[in-house]
Amino acid sequence: MTKYNNSTSHRGHNARTPGAAGNGLREHEVAQTIHEKFIKVTKAVDCTDDAGTTANANLVNIVDRMNRVGKSYHVSHHLNAFNGQANGFEVWYFAGNETARKLAQAICDEVCKVTGWVNRGAKATTSLYVIRASVGTAVLIEWGFIDNKRDMDILSEKMVDAVNAALKVMGYSTAGGGSSNGGGSAVEKPTPQPTPSPTPKPTPTPAQPEKLAEDGSLGPLTARRWQVVTKMQIQDGRISHQWRQAQNQNIHAAVFDTTLIGSNLIRDVQRKLAARGLYTGKIDGLCGEQTIRAMQRAKGTTVDGFISAPQSQLVMAIQRDLNAGRSPF
Ligand SMILES: [Zn+2]
Repeated sequence: MTKYNNSTSHRGHNARTPGAAGNGLREHEVAQTIHEKFIKVTKAVDCTDDAGTTANANLVNIVDRMNRVGKSYHVSHHLNAFNGQANGFEVWYFAGNETARKLAQAICDEVCKVTGWVNRGAKATTSLYVIRASVGTAVLIEWGFIDNKRDMDILSEKMVDAVNAALKVMGYSTAGGGSSNGGGSAVEKPTPQPTPSPTPKPTPTPAQPEKLAEDGSLGPLTARRWQVVTKMQIQDGRISHQWRQAQNQNIHAAVFDTTLIGSNLIRDVQRKLAARGLYTGKIDGLCGEQTIRAMQRAKGTTVDGFISAPQSQLVMAIQRDLNAGRSPF
């Protein structure tokens, strides 16, 4: 069996800057219980941060601790939240790190097998901070949706089985009291994470964020910076729940589906544009023609209702604002 030497573990968020909540539960408290079960077995260094008073400070403190420990496998424990209906288990990894992808997928498969959770699978990211800014190989586990009753019923009943399944994948045996490691297996060297080109991996200095390429392409890095600058609660670099049309199909950060739920970031833009009298459509979070036209009007670029590729003038204007630390709208 492959042994993924678990060097650090932490739970996300803290009491001063709490994460999600639902079903009478708070994310950092539930994740703490899971994290404690994890480190009891793996003896990983605890990189949890209770000092940070903002989401950003909390993340920076966590990654500082991770990077002091160095290159091996880091595990981050979180719970998802969305609309009460969304459910299931997923594990995030750095896009392009094949070892991490395999580990993430195997954790999904084993945990869902023993719990019955919906398997949302391994998810690639280049924007989640603990994954992007840490040295070595980090995986971020979303242990179900805290605002979904069924997910939390499963977690309360099967937490031990779920944690043990993840540990088993990483090469740790939990038989007989849960403190021995998998016997005689070779420790796998983590693959170094690929550096996103063309800019080098940034060191964690949130005061001076890395400059975005002003390339007119609305990808995850631009979306994440937009979320950070406008202080969105979720800063995942995704413009979620978009309805695919010719007008918005070149938004690379968009996640297209048929839910019509929309994105909080776009809802925020629509509210701001409506307040300025530039937008009269619905505040639905969907970046369609009307919203694109309103953004173009606000930025003084060609008003055609399309995000063009490979280079959108509107997106370039947004990137210039973000690099200056300003909300684009
Ligand atoms: Zn979280």
